[in-house]
Formats: sequence, structure tokens, C-alpha cells
Amino acid sequence: MNIIKTIREQKLFIITLYKQGHTYSYILNAYKIKFGKSISRQYVHQIVANTAEYKERKAKLNELKAITCLRCDHRWTPRNLGKPRVCPVCRSPWYDRISKKGNYKRKEIKCVI
Ligand SMILES: [Zn+2]
Repeated sequence: MNIIKTIREQKLFIITLYKQGHTYSYILNAYKIKFGKSISRQYVHQIVANTAEYKERKAKLNELKAITCLRCDHRWTPRNLGKPRVCPVCRSPWYDRISKKGNYKRKEIKCVI
């Protein structure tokens, strides 16, 4: 009974710190000071990954990384690091530059048809 109570308490401690906006590194240190033993990053992640805060933070991060195509207005989040080669919708390699000939929009073309 005591062990279960302790584990619950430890999980609650981790989740509380995470909800306060602390990073994994901070939580690892705080845990070590409070409970006198080290835990892995993966363990913290496992506990934290199911919380609404985690999903919210991840969504914000994705929003920061999101790219808007200046040719077709498509907005997406690249999965890999580094600059994407082309826009996934209009396939333009110049998605980050405004067209000199005028901004053609694929979506509008679709609507006309
Ligand atoms: Zn595009």
C-alpha cells in the first residue's frame, strides 16, 4: 500500500511541475532532490505524455514550426528538420518567395472547376 501511495505521489509531483511549465531537465533535478534518486527522461515523458498540457505545448510548438506557402497559402508543419524542398500542395520550390508574376492560388483554380 505504501509503495503504491509513493508511486502515485511521485507521479503527481512530476505532473504538477510539468503543469507549472517546467522543462524535463528541471523536473529531473527536482525529483532527485526530493526523492533522492534519479529517473530517466523517458520515464518523465511517459507520465507527462497523457496530460492535456503536453498536447497543448506540442500543438504550440508545431504552430511555431509551421510554414505557409506564399504561392498557394497552404500551411503545414514539416516532419523533418531543415528546410523543406517543395510545398506539399503546389510542389513549388519557391514557396517562401512571393511570385513576381502575381500570386496564383491553386485553391481558387479548384473552386472555378
Ligand atoms: Zn504551395
